[in-house]
Amino acid sequence: MSKTIYTNGIFYTLDSNQPVVESVVVENGRIIDLGSHPEMSLQWGRAGARVIDLQGNMVTPGLIDSHLHMSGVAFNFLDLDLTGVTSKSEMLDKIKQKADTVAPGKWLIGMGWDENLFTEGSIPTIEELDYVAPHCPIYLKRICYHAFLVNSKALEMSQYHPSIEVPKGGSVVVDPHTKKPTGMLLESASQIITKHIPDKTYDELKNGLAHAMKFAISKGLTSVHTNDPAYLGGLEQTYRMYDELINHEQKGLRCNLLIDCPYLPALKEKGMAAGYGNEKLQIGAIKIFADGAFGRRTALLSEPYSDDPSQYGEAMQTQEVLFNIVKDAREQSMPIAVHTIGDKALEDVLHILDQFPKVNYRDRIIHTSLVREDLIARLADPSIVADIQPRFVVGDYPWVIDRIGKEREAYLYAWKSLLSKGVICAGGSDAPVEPVDPLLGIHAAVTRKTPGKPNIWNGEQRISMLDAVKLFTIGGAYATNEEAIKGTISRGKLADMTVYSKNLFTLENPDALLDTKIEMTIIDGEIQG
Ligand SMILES: [Zn+2]
Repeated sequence: MSKTIYTNGIFYTLDSNQPVVESVVVENGRIIDLGSHPEMSLQWGRAGARVIDLQGNMVTPGLIDSHLHMSGVAFNFLDLDLTGVTSKSEMLDKIKQKADTVAPGKWLIGMGWDENLFTEGSIPTIEELDYVAPHCPIYLKRICYHAFLVNSKALEMSQYHPSIEVPKGGSVVVDPHTKKPTGMLLESASQIITKHIPDKTYDELKNGLAHAMKFAISKGLTSVHTNDPAYLGGLEQTYRMYDELINHEQKGLRCNLLIDCPYLPALKEKGMAAGYGNEKLQIGAIKIFADGAFGRRTALLSEPYSDDPSQYGEAMQTQEVLFNIVKDAREQSMPIAVHTIGDKALEDVLHILDQFPKVNYRDRIIHTSLVREDLIARLADPSIVADIQPRFVVGDYPWVIDRIGKEREAYLYAWKSLLSKGVICAGGSDAPVEPVDPLLGIHAAVTRKTPGKPNIWNGEQRISMLDAVKLFTIGGAYATNEEAIKGTISRGKLADMTVYSKNLFTLENPDALLDTKIEMTIIDGEIQG
């Protein structure tokens, strides 16, 4: 393949050898040289290289989202997306509009509602859901995926009755007076419903996933670390879908697949382990849940919830079960990626990790939302990466302070403390929980503000633009042990780069990030369209 010279850019390489250059030369998907415009055109221009003028735009290493669910993003294209809805009436209107297109008896699936954003009204009641959609069963997933709403038709089609067996760890919320379901289901009680919802077809899912990948690329992402098997029909089907899209249909996005722990035996059977695949599609760590979330007070804390002193949250499994999952993973030389929100969950996970030898890939602590001084010190370990989501500040403030209390706030989403103590951090969105948009993540990390709102949430923990960009570049590369081939613009690395309409490092006000456009996403040296 011929050479391409990307020139007349402001390339922030994040490589201390050559921090800023004007031109980058790529061949066969790799960066082969970089430097000033005259040098590069003298050296490579005569050999008939293709020249692409970046018109003075800023370039960084290709952006990486270190934790999201591409399947969830895909479902947002296929189902009813309630993300960002700000009132009960808007939510009911959207449900009604969608319901009017759904045939009687067919399921209406939706996701993304967050009643904390409501400026009017509260969560719809089952009667209200029945009113807007009497003919079709409704199943709506809250933004956190820990609470769910259904209508009467959904209960009827799931053969719900008051003495039905509710899966462990879940509950069906009932009205204290009438004892009738309110339509709200918590945690695993959703299985009462989900087992009656017919699966989407393979082609539907794959089509949604293709949309999601294209969307991610349009937001400047060149790589994602995604967790899907539980939503895309298991390990085999998930891998096949990605393999077809990436390796056979040439969709550009690089995907690292986190595999949920129940699929450990299936991985073994297929001879797959971390690193299996190629530079485009690769098996990643084993995904485990240690606890829940702050919203429902299920994140596991070492001191009780400030707004409910009887509650410490919930471990998703006993220490013994968690230990055995890690043991099984280690027997297959697999790194783990554990969802931990509360500080006690983090302590438990670190305690278990201490009992096993390291493997060739870093272990990952997903979210790392609440820490303590002693835990930060233990996280500062070169074999561990904290997968943080700066946008959680926007999603969870101000109500999260009721849960955690002012005293612990210094340790909540404490990105600056983590970085200053040497914890390797990678930035992600946890989409569809937060939007697939690294610029929004960077904005949240730098400002700790909700776009358009004045409040700054614990401004002490704001980080610099450079550190925020590093989260979504080199940080992501560390998370999958790919720092030798990604994360900086350096000779020999993959030619993955993101081009912006504004120079992020010279913005007078970081709010200008909000109207910065992605001009180009370059993967393997090719502009993605
Ligand atoms: Zn997640």
